Amino acid sequence: MRILVHGASLGEREFRMRRAAAALALRGHQVFWGPGGAPSEAGGEVREIAPGIPLSRFEADLVLGGARDPLRTAYAGWRTRAHVLLLTLDAGGVARWNAIDHWAWNSLFAAGLVEETEADAMRRAGGSLGLERLALWSAEAPAAEPDATHADTEILERACERALARHRGRSPRGAVFLDRDGTLVVERGYLADPDDLELLPGVPEALRDLAAAGFALIVISNQSGVGRGLFPLARVHQAMARLRTLLRARGIELDAIYFCPHRPDAGCDCRKPGAALLERASDDLGIALSRSFMVGDKLIDARAGHNAGSRGVLVRTGYGRDEERANPGPGMAPPERVFDDLRDASRWMLAEAEAAGLA
Ligand SMILES: [Mg+2]
Repeated sequence: MRILVHGASLGEREFRMRRAAAALALRGHQVFWGPGGAPSEAGGEVREIAPGIPLSRFEADLVLGGARDPLRTAYAGWRTRAHVLLLTLDAGGVARWNAIDHWAWNSLFAAGLVEETEADAMRRAGGSLGLERLALWSAEAPAAEPDATHADTEILERACERALARHRGRSPRGAVFLDRDGTLVVERGYLADPDDLELLPGVPEALRDLAAAGFALIVISNQSGVGRGLFPLARVHQAMARLRTLLRARGIELDAIYFCPHRPDAGCDCRKPGAALLERASDDLGIALSRSFMVGDKLIDARAGHNAGSRGVLVRTGYGRDEERANPGPGMAPPERVFDDLRDASRWMLAEAEAAGLA
């Protein structure tokens, strides 16, 4: 996502938004900060907009800010051609809004995040904002510095994605769910260094064509190295940030990334071939699972798609050639199709979607 943070609307009290917005840069989103309220804590990841530089030079999907000045925040959003306004709100701040502030809130697709301690007051005061557009920050202590692994960062990222998907507002669309290692990037066992992430040939072209046909692009990844203690959660976010950056340089924006950090024996339902992450993405982003595909280099990838009511596709990159020869197991549906790589798979998915009148 491309995100403008309207720094001048965020005071010291809005520390959750300050930290979480800066941390979105650590997850590979493009974060511009300005005008005003420089993110001293944000380090080199956030691009600061110097005073006097016209905002119209920047292009953003969303503008983030605080409750204190929705008109100026929305105006910053209009200048950058953002579609979504996402504010951290408190009942006292909203109570001070005048008619123009309320008009500004409605001038973009708006959503809000609220401290848990403010929830009751907002329920009473925030009816005119649309309660379904409000969500809560985490109950955890705020991060001391921008932290990709903090619960608030996750909440803000999902709130941004959800608002963008709802703004798009069409009937539920199809997605291509994508395994990461061996499907999008070269398989390296447990990826130790995010800088080793390398896109497989044909991946950018495939993703561009799928996005152009209206598919949401959603990464679904098993990262049991976290649960096994092989690397910290922050390492997964670093690698995912690198993936976002590599793809953005080729004009591709992922709609979302979901991963399971648990050990295989943890009994969770989010690890592929479980369908929980695909179902969560469907709820969050308005995805029609029956019109979606899951592509991966392992049988469990295809099976996760199948389990979600989508279509499962195997690619022969990564572990795919070995997996193709493996027995799917008793009672287990094999992949619907097998292709040499994602590029080939994308051609087939586009043709399937077109045949069904979906693309
Ligand atoms: Mg894989």
